[in-house]
Amino acid sequence: MDKNIAETLETYNQDITIGTLGSHSALNIFKGAKEEGFKTVCVCKKGDEIVYSRFPLADEIIRVNDFKELLDEKIQDKLKKMNTVLIPHGSFNAYIGTENMLKKLSVPMFGNKSLLHWETNREMQRKWLIDAGLKLPKMFKSPEDINNLAIVKYPGARGGKGYFLAHSKESFYKKGREMINKGHMSEDELKNAHIQEYIIGVNIYTSYFHSMLNNETEFFGVDKRYESFADNIGRIPADEQIEMSINPTYTIVGNIPLTLRESLLPEYIRMGDKVVKQAKKIATPGIIGPFCLETVVKENLDIVTFEISARIVAGTNVGIGTSPYAYLKYGEKMYMGRRIAKEIKNAVKTDRLKDVVT
Ligand code: AMP
Ligand code: AMP
Repeated sequence: MDKNIAETLETYNQDITIGTLGSHSALNIFKGAKEEGFKTVCVCKKGDEIVYSRFPLADEIIRVNDFKELLDEKIQDKLKKMNTVLIPHGSFNAYIGTENMLKKLSVPMFGNKSLLHWETNREMQRKWLIDAGLKLPKMFKSPEDINNLAIVKYPGARGGKGYFLAHSKESFYKKGREMINKGHMSEDELKNAHIQEYIIGVNIYTSYFHSMLNNETEFFGVDKRYESFADNIGRIPADEQIEMSINPTYTIVGNIPLTLRESLLPEYIRMGDKVVKQAKKIATPGIIGPFCLETVVKENLDIVTFEISARIVAGTNVGIGTSPYAYLKYGEKMYMGRRIAKEIKNAVKTDRLKDVVT
């Protein structure tokens, strides 16, 4: 464990506060923390307090102009005085960055920060999943190689903004130019774009929880995304689409709950186990807590994985209260925010907090 984190933990007593940035899955995390009896602290952007006052789940709100202020010594000191354990989510990756989290954050974080770094680097992430034995979409090394429908992503981008489809090098350059003109990406980002085979099928996002304390990977829930405007393009007749030369984009707006055909579960459960096993090899001690596989299921029921998130995803918000799969195991309301809090509570009780934070 990092020396700074170990030193911080030594100053903590059992009266832990659960903290996170006010966005993404914060309500899910805070509700879970409350249900398990924790105090909560929200680092919130000015103006967004409205959320955390209408849903009164944060005992303390620390107002900031920018989420990066979480790294300020004064704020970190305040959090440490409250014995805070931070729960990372998508806004940590997007607005703070994994380098900063690894180097400048001395407040203990639930989960394995190194894996967040693997998550945010497309090449590293690809290696993790391939070495785990999962099926991935083909990559086109350069726009010249595009010989099939491709989805173009740019480095580090999250949430699908600015992604576009191309079926040849000509359409790649034409649409790339349009994306630059619209301000969705820079010249440099287009140059370093990640060009992936577009998998035709349906998108399925499966969430898991790996318990360090029980050495078990729980299959937690499933969702699909609601993306603007890829998910509503079918409402515009094909003639108009052609006339307007519509270029679908994939900006995430929300999530929709799902259950899976039961005969797909064995494979999804095995996939979760494989990813956990490989994570132990690439970044000890491996996955701590939530993770999510982003997949497409083809018409022959082949499952292709195009991404992994090594933390809670906002798709688990569809399970606040209970997700059907979590209910099957727990027989009571259970959802990702609560499962995280439960693990921290058990870790405190058994004096193993050091095993679930980095
Ligand atoms: P936000 O704080 O809403 O800007 O979200 C932080 C990051 O997480 C952004 O990069 C978003 O694209 C991503 N994100 C937010 N909500 C969701 C969601 N419901 N599903 C997937 N990604 C999300
Ligand atoms: P991501 O930022 O990688 O989570 O991708 C955002 C969205 O783009 C996904 O939710 C999918 O709708 C779509 N997508 C990404 N990669 C692929 C792929 N290889 N094949 C089909 N759709 C994809």
